[in-house]
Amino acid sequence: MLKTQMRWKRMLVVPAMLAAGTASAASKLNVVTSTEDLASLAREVGGDRIVADSIARGYQDPHFVEPKPSFLLKLQKADLLVAVSLQLEIGWLPPLVTQSRNSKIQVGAAGYLDVSTFCRILEIPSGQITRAMGDVHPLGNPHYWLDPDNGRRIAKALADKLSEMKASDAPYFAQRYADFDRRLAAAEKGWEAKMAPYRGRTVITYHRSWPNFCDHFGLVVVDYVEPKPGIPPTPSHTLEVINTMRRQNIKLILVEPYFDLRTPDSIADKTGGQVIVLLPSVGGVPAVKDYFQLFDYDINLLVTAFSKAK
Ligand SMILES: [Zn+2]
Repeated sequence: MLKTQMRWKRMLVVPAMLAAGTASAASKLNVVTSTEDLASLAREVGGDRIVADSIARGYQDPHFVEPKPSFLLKLQKADLLVAVSLQLEIGWLPPLVTQSRNSKIQVGAAGYLDVSTFCRILEIPSGQITRAMGDVHPLGNPHYWLDPDNGRRIAKALADKLSEMKASDAPYFAQRYADFDRRLAAAEKGWEAKMAPYRGRTVITYHRSWPNFCDHFGLVVVDYVEPKPGIPPTPSHTLEVINTMRRQNIKLILVEPYFDLRTPDSIADKTGGQVIVLLPSVGGVPAVKDYFQLFDYDINLLVTAFSKAK
């Protein structure tokens, strides 16, 4: 009974929206991404020919997202699903995609895009992988969007995919990509200049979120607050980190916004170090609304921290 009522309500709402002048929305490609970073890159190249929305929010740990009914609604309407993959979303995305029953976006279908295949991936394990390793990165590091060069590769893959899906807009997507590429190259120059005085600086990070970022900007990650990716801190590992920081005079601990600060704070206390909450994703704080602002924010934080530390 209730279901029927809801369906009627929805049918009444749709013609009202069309009358309000959103008819062109029907012709836009509906892009759903797993993370806000991918949605931002999709908007860069898709412009006004697409609508892009992400499932995970940038302040959430992308490995562990609690499924909600609203996610299913998004996926049911999607023309294209874009995923980070490398098992980043394995705990939550595959069941949602199956339940959406949207044949367009199933893995292997034309409306499914795994952008990891276009990117430079670090920490690809050699040898046999076992569950006992407690590792949430069994196929290589999935936080690869934090290298602007990978951001460029993702944008190119998106432009190509959108062009394939809507050939009549291919020149538009190509022009948007070229413009993004130009703006990114200019921004990269600025970011690299700001970071140049701190090349070779050593840091501790909470999770292994930053290998691509640190590789690009010349930082050296010496150890992690987590003993293994996805495994919470243990007293014995925390002591090792403290000893390492003292021995090597490491002063900076980078923490993602979704981790408990107690262990990093206590490590900083014992080592005279400093904890900074660095954002791994667009939307990590409300002011960071796109891919450019993400690097602006993180690099400003780092430069401020390094310039204070001797
Ligand atoms: Zn991870």
